[in-house]
Amino acid sequence: MVVGKSRSRDQAAGQRGLRVLPSIDVCLKAAGIDPRLSALGRNYLKKIAREAQDEIRAGSVSVTTEVDTRREQMLGQVLERMAALANADAPKLRPVVNATGVVLHTNLGRALLAEAAVEAVRVAATSAINLEYDFASGARGDRDAAVESDLLELTGAEAATIVNNNAAAVLLTLNTLAAGREVIVSRGELVEIGGSFRLPDVMSSSSARLREVGTTNRTHAHDYEQAIGPETALLLKVHPSNYRIIGFTHEVGLAELVNIGREHGIEVVEDLGAGALIDLSQYGLPRESVVRDRIAAGAGIVTFSGDKLLGGPQAGVLVGRRELIERVRANPLKRALRCDKLTVAALAATLRLYRRGDLSNELPTLRLLRRTAEEIELIANRACDILRERLGGDFRVEIADSYSEVGSGSLPTVQLTSRAVRVTHPRLPAESIAARFRHAQPAVIGRISDGAFLLDCRMIDDPAVLAVDFPIASA
Ligand SMILES: *Cc1c(COP(=O)(O)O)cnc(C)c1O
Repeated sequence: MVVGKSRSRDQAAGQRGLRVLPSIDVCLKAAGIDPRLSALGRNYLKKIAREAQDEIRAGSVSVTTEVDTRREQMLGQVLERMAALANADAPKLRPVVNATGVVLHTNLGRALLAEAAVEAVRVAATSAINLEYDFASGARGDRDAAVESDLLELTGAEAATIVNNNAAAVLLTLNTLAAGREVIVSRGELVEIGGSFRLPDVMSSSSARLREVGTTNRTHAHDYEQAIGPETALLLKVHPSNYRIIGFTHEVGLAELVNIGREHGIEVVEDLGAGALIDLSQYGLPRESVVRDRIAAGAGIVTFSGDKLLGGPQAGVLVGRRELIERVRANPLKRALRCDKLTVAALAATLRLYRRGDLSNELPTLRLLRRTAEEIELIANRACDILRERLGGDFRVEIADSYSEVGSGSLPTVQLTSRAVRVTHPRLPAESIAARFRHAQPAVIGRISDGAFLLDCRMIDDPAVLAVDFPIASA
């Protein structure tokens, strides 16, 4: 009996809980009006609908639906799984809220680009551009041309070139000017920058030999002079970006080092790290790392990052005397370290803003650095209201004083007065509050200070970004 047969098959399926699994077509229709899924493409929805069904069929996800529940409820379960699958498949890189208090946070991507730079990236990404094309001759041009003249105007240097990042700029400079020979560096300047940049390691990769002079806290002119010999290729000065030696200290300033170099016919190169193109004292920051000053003091080459104080894309900039920059350009390693067109476009657009002097509103880095505590407090107040409403329960949400930092090893001693939202809970440690924010949608990255979770509001433009969804498990 045909009818009996199909009934018993139905029953067997029913015992495994499969009887009411909706068809793919039904799932797609329902997904079309589910706000979590409706924006996704049809082929992708089909794929995750099948995956969700397979999971449920295989019992690898637990569904709460009873064996004989109605179809709609089972459909609801399939859609739940589809939403979870789509969610798990979210882009690996996504926006986060930087509430760390560190403006240039290397792990969060450092400088935010100006609108003009973003637009230049869009154009370079979607259109053919004259990246290495000379209109005058119709022949091949040089990709440095997009940035060089502005860099010269902004730094007073004779020539400029760019590479992938400042580590590459240092590597290339040393390899070009000192391979197989000695580079003299003060012990107080042998820096390690967060993660991977250790000057001694970069040195050895460049085939230059490191010659350390002085002691950690004191290096004098005669220390350099005694070390200079036939093997000496360069005197290197490194900006001790992420720390300060204080107390009984002495360092040989750049101008003095240049004088020593001149007496012996040896070039001085400076790795400035976060080189600033303008005097940041107008924003309450020290004037110390302005590239123009270092060129004027006689450095043969100065290298610095594009995405630190400059506020542009990741890049390494080399400015200096023409003859030295020409030698750098002729090094085959330069080709391996060259910038891509998106970087060139973003950097060129950023430098153009500098040249036009139209900065503090245009460049996010400067805008964020110069925000006053009073301005930040307005944002923090609204952030407090939003988070109180979101967190509810026993959470305590209040305004607290905070200090932001420039970050990326730039100006390490500078503390910018700021305001934060402080979140505490009578039974939850700060670490688990931090984890809750980290797993929210979008993720909010704050910091823990004195046992409390702090959200520094300096880098938050619109407090509405804090109207986040917390993970259900931690609700
Ligand atoms: C940041 C820094 C570097 C590394 O620059 P990247 O652009 O990150 O490669 C090198 N030297 C100094 C002194 C720095 O501050």
